[in-house]
Amino acid sequence: MKQPKNQIIALVLFTMIAGVSAFGQENGAEWKAPRVVNPGSKASDCIQLPPSDAIILFDGKDLTQFETTSGGVAGWEVNDGVFTVAKKAGDIRTRKEFSDFQLHIEWRIPENIEGSGQLRGNSGIFLQGKYEIQILDSYNNETYFNGHAGSVYSQVPPLVNAMRMPGEWNVYDIIYTAPTFKDDGTFRTRPSVTILHNGILVQNNTTIMGITFKDYKGYPPGETHGAGPIVLQDHGFPVSFRNVWIREL
Ligand code: MG
Repeated sequence: MKQPKNQIIALVLFTMIAGVSAFGQENGAEWKAPRVVNPGSKASDCIQLPPSDAIILFDGKDLTQFETTSGGVAGWEVNDGVFTVAKKAGDIRTRKEFSDFQLHIEWRIPENIEGSGQLRGNSGIFLQGKYEIQILDSYNNETYFNGHAGSVYSQVPPLVNAMRMPGEWNVYDIIYTAPTFKDDGTFRTRPSVTILHNGILVQNNTTIMGITFKDYKGYPPGETHGAGPIVLQDHGFPVSFRNVWIREL
């Protein structure tokens, strides 16, 4: 029997809505916003200058340590010791590639940010160019639990929400262990990450299940790779960065 057209449309709409509702509940985790923790002092009061063995990725002057993802000149704006995502300039990556590391990076959502959910100050840091640590304005902003600032994007939510308000500086200290692979290309050991957001633990030796795909909801497979760059995401929002350094482990 042929279904009437409006029934088919209703079915399609229902499926779409059900799909959206289920979003955030994959992998058996419940949909729950991370608990809010006030990080205390303002970042401007406590910049951690690079230690003696750090590689300086941004010293406030220029983006010579970065390039576009196709190897061109990084076109983000540099002003007053800060660099900012520029419209349509695309993602940028470090010229140097890394395996295990400790990364310090400070970032700021503009004070006049608009939008909501994922469309509010979205950026991100791709570890080895593969695994996204989310940057978002999570201050009074609802979104799916594993899409908040400090999440391993689309996989693991932060333990708490330690976000400072727009206009203030946030700090990530990211300790990362690269994956190893078997001959057949599957993980021997998965990557893992520990993250402090404004000095507060948000990922505690978290296992990363696979590479981050755009719009991928769940755990993708691994993909054999060696050392990789730090990639910063241009998601169309003027998120700023400063004091970026890394220690190879
Ligand atoms: Mg992002």
